[in-house]
Amino acid sequence: MRLKTMPNDLLKVFDSHIHLDFDAFEPLRERLVGQMRKQGLVDAVIPGVSVEGWGKLIDIAKQYQCHYGLGIHPWYCNEDWQADVVSLEQYLAVNRRDLSLVAIGECGLDGFHRDNWQWQLPCFEAHLVLAQRYQLPVIIHSVKAHNEVLELLKRYPLENGGVIHGFYGGSELAKRYLNVGMKLGIGHLLLDEKAKKLPETIVNLPLTSFVIETDLALISSKKEVGIADEINGSSLILHLLIEKIANLQKKSCVLVSEQVFQNTLQLFEL
Ligand SMILES: [Zn+2]
Repeated sequence: MRLKTMPNDLLKVFDSHIHLDFDAFEPLRERLVGQMRKQGLVDAVIPGVSVEGWGKLIDIAKQYQCHYGLGIHPWYCNEDWQADVVSLEQYLAVNRRDLSLVAIGECGLDGFHRDNWQWQLPCFEAHLVLAQRYQLPVIIHSVKAHNEVLELLKRYPLENGGVIHGFYGGSELAKRYLNVGMKLGIGHLLLDEKAKKLPETIVNLPLTSFVIETDLALISSKKEVGIADEINGSSLILHLLIEKIANLQKKSCVLVSEQVFQNTLQLFEL
């Protein structure tokens, strides 16, 4: 993916979801963050995915002056989920006054991963209980499990809301999430010409509904896009998202970037 320099490069952007702690970034993290900063990246939230990774995640977040979430991603739920949730609560208790800690997550349900489904459900439920107790927003991974996620969100109302990251769906589904206090994390799917539903959703919803994300680890897992390309294009993905949202909503890029930035600050109480 070769993305050319764009005039709105310098609009400030906030990446609401980037797995900067992943080993895949090891040799190039410094350059990647430097490049993104140059392209207007002001802040980012690094979501946690497993107990083993939280220590490093916190170090990386501090080193690069980002924020972070703590959670167990549904792919990482296993028969030890109860012990992992106990660890999560310990981490939350220890770090509760850490201003860099802004969310619980990444947590949620993934219907494509049926092999660990019986552990995903109670593990996600436990995250919602902790979100209520620690008054933090949640970063939710919801794939092929919208009804189950929505049912749990109704059962555990979250004062601090949350975000459905990598949202893909129509306006009706989007509204159901907005009604339970969620924001919609809009990522690279919006730039996919084949993903028809999402542009319609963006047209039909208020601008206050969205935050934007690179979800960079996901892209790096696709062979055709190497880390070098990410370094060239990662922050521009955020600019392309702003541009696309602006076109769909018939608003200026400046207005959209400012509102989306504010939405992110509000979501993570920054
Ligand atoms: Zn993620």
